[in-house]
Amino acid sequence: MSVVGSAPGTASSALERYEPVIGIEVHCQLKTASKMFCSCSTEYDGAPPNTHVCPVCLGLPGALPVINRRAVEYVLAAGLAIEATNPVTTRWDRKNYFYPDLPKGYQISQYDLPLAAHGRLTFETSTGPFTVGIRRAHLEEDTAKLVHVTTPDGRTVSLVDFNRSGAPLMEIVTEPDIRSAEQARRYAEELQLLLRSIGVSDADMERGQMRVEANVSLRPRGVEAFGIRVEVKNMNSFRSVERAIAFEIERQAAALDAGETLTQDTRGWDDNRGVTYVMRSKEDSQDYRYFPEPDLPPLRIDPAWLAEIRARLPELPAARRARYRIELGLSAYDAGVIVNDPAMVAAFEAIQVADPTLPAKEIANLVTGDYGRATKEIVERTPSGLVGRADGPQLADLLARIVSGELSRANAKEVLAEHLVTGTAVAAIVEASGLRQISDASAVGSVVDEVLAANPAAVADYRAGKGQALGFLVGQVMKVTRGQANAGVATALIRERLGEPGSEGG
Ligand code: ADP
Ligand code: MG
Ligand code: ZN
Repeated sequence: MSVVGSAPGTASSALERYEPVIGIEVHCQLKTASKMFCSCSTEYDGAPPNTHVCPVCLGLPGALPVINRRAVEYVLAAGLAIEATNPVTTRWDRKNYFYPDLPKGYQISQYDLPLAAHGRLTFETSTGPFTVGIRRAHLEEDTAKLVHVTTPDGRTVSLVDFNRSGAPLMEIVTEPDIRSAEQARRYAEELQLLLRSIGVSDADMERGQMRVEANVSLRPRGVEAFGIRVEVKNMNSFRSVERAIAFEIERQAAALDAGETLTQDTRGWDDNRGVTYVMRSKEDSQDYRYFPEPDLPPLRIDPAWLAEIRARLPELPAARRARYRIELGLSAYDAGVIVNDPAMVAAFEAIQVADPTLPAKEIANLVTGDYGRATKEIVERTPSGLVGRADGPQLADLLARIVSGELSRANAKEVLAEHLVTGTAVAAIVEASGLRQISDASAVGSVVDEVLAANPAAVADYRAGKGQALGFLVGQVMKVTRGQANAGVATALIRERLGEPGSEGG
């Protein structure tokens, strides 16, 4: 045997020897109108630098913070959605550190009394459902943003934009329960869907509204104690989360195999090169010298307030998936595809409300198929949006015509596209275009007779048992009727006229 076997192993060989242990920290920007402790607007995306600022979020001496009630409600809502518990009273703590994007020299955060603790989130993975324990969700303020630029005379300077300073930020930290890169990606995806569904964050990773950090360590299979962990930052997409963790698992396995001792570093993910790199060695949490924020009172969480927040929660993704499967009889696949896309959920629900007699499976087919594709295509082509988007009664009308056989699926697709682009009523489009499907047996029958007479060779082939002749003849009927004949009716009529293929009957 050669010695190639000692080269850095493949993912599967590393996983035979080591078990990955992964915990995820997510920071997400809350969708409030104003900042966490002042009344500055959070609508600063694209605004000139330092235009959404005041003494509080600039950290000027003597300025006093005021708690944003909505931000607290959003974290409490997120806590309820992940089945977390809430403290009776919470408080704010100062996390002290120096950095140019932190003018006060401390961040107002929460230390030992987070707004939510001991939650969990369950989601599907390629190997079945998986539940991750969530240690805590707390509220804090965002930092300013450093912008590094080169001046016209070639100097590199760092500028500070305080627009983001003091924006409300929720941090959600999992237990170290995750065991694979895929589970980590799925957790992040499901969390994004949950936060969007309850309306607390847009959670767009590319726009920095959701920032995912992964703590990754390995332990030899069969060993209980956790290994030294590395924290990976700068992952700007779900795909990056999965790739960065997979890379870290490989890197750490190779280092451990080589007898190296790992260090508890913070590493960045370089998406272009597909590698992680050392950013800094890890600070200990004591370094922050947390202490209770003296400018803010402790916050009592009134049970009645919590009950109100709970009552306002919409149906959560997991419950919706279960309802679609169990009550509506959809497949797990269809339920998953629809629930993962809020636009599809809106369309599905709107069609159901408009016509409760339509079969759920038919609604799912329309929404996940032609409707889903058409809306995506049209949105890409016309950024102004869709005029007829998720118009329940119109989509229900279209689907009723498909189910009754009045419109062929091919023609329905055209009607749908026109409706979505122009907003014209489905009935008017069908009327004007004459796309009504011909299902009437006598109307289709006369075309069938015409086609059989005109194609004696195909008829002979059919009688001789050549299966493809039937398809050809149906195709001819469709051609003569410009796609308007009901293909099923045409097929049945040809069989009726000629008998079963090869039977010499008819
Ligand atoms: P810090 O305060 O330094 O961020 P925490 O103890 O709060 O550290 O943990 C941060 C995250 O790291 C959590 O998600 C936790 O589950 C995870 N974690 C802790 N220890 C390990 C480990 N040995 N390997 C992987 N993840 C870990
Ligand atoms: Mg951390
Ligand atoms: Zn402000």
